[in-house]
Amino acid sequence: MRRILIDACCGPCSLAAMDAIPWPDYSRHYLFYNPNIHPFREYRRRLESFESLMAEETAEYTMLPYEPEEWIRAVAYREESRCEMCYRLRLRKAADLAMEEDFDSLTTTLFASPYQDHDLISLLGDSICRSRGFEFLVWDGRPYYQETLKRARERDMYTQSYCGCIMSERERYDKRAGWQKKDERP
Ligand code: SF4
Repeated sequence: MRRILIDACCGPCSLAAMDAIPWPDYSRHYLFYNPNIHPFREYRRRLESFESLMAEETAEYTMLPYEPEEWIRAVAYREESRCEMCYRLRLRKAADLAMEEDFDSLTTTLFASPYQDHDLISLLGDSICRSRGFEFLVWDGRPYYQETLKRARERDMYTQSYCGCIMSERERYDKRAGWQKKDERP
């Protein structure tokens, strides 16, 4: 049986992947490697939600250590293209593991979310996997996103309110809180 490694960004998107990934002939193994998540308590919360899902569904997974330093190094001085650097870091790590463990394919649960750049992820994933000699598989969970959130909440899963990094947390909250940049304050 062919084996696919699924890079997992969080519990709810992994739940989406369980239903929406369209390759029934592949045996699936998930990977949790998310050095982008800030702060550590948020990371731990997302990891716990992911691990509970894996246990409930008796799914196989690997968890790599939390390495926020790696993410900081990857995006430093490239903040304008931070998502590209962030995807690249995570997909490379996943592809290295897929190669070491002899998987046939790689994909990512990032494809579950309408907030992620699917074209960029597809491009990067394809190029990273091709250079290592295996396939990157693309799927689209966006049409089912609202349904996924509903199902995740019904299962009492933690559903995060920002993408993961410190900048995304600020983008999510600063307007809502009426916060102004220092040079814009009266
Ligand atoms: S917004 Fe999300 S994808 Fe982009 S850098 Fe931050 S954590 Fe990574």
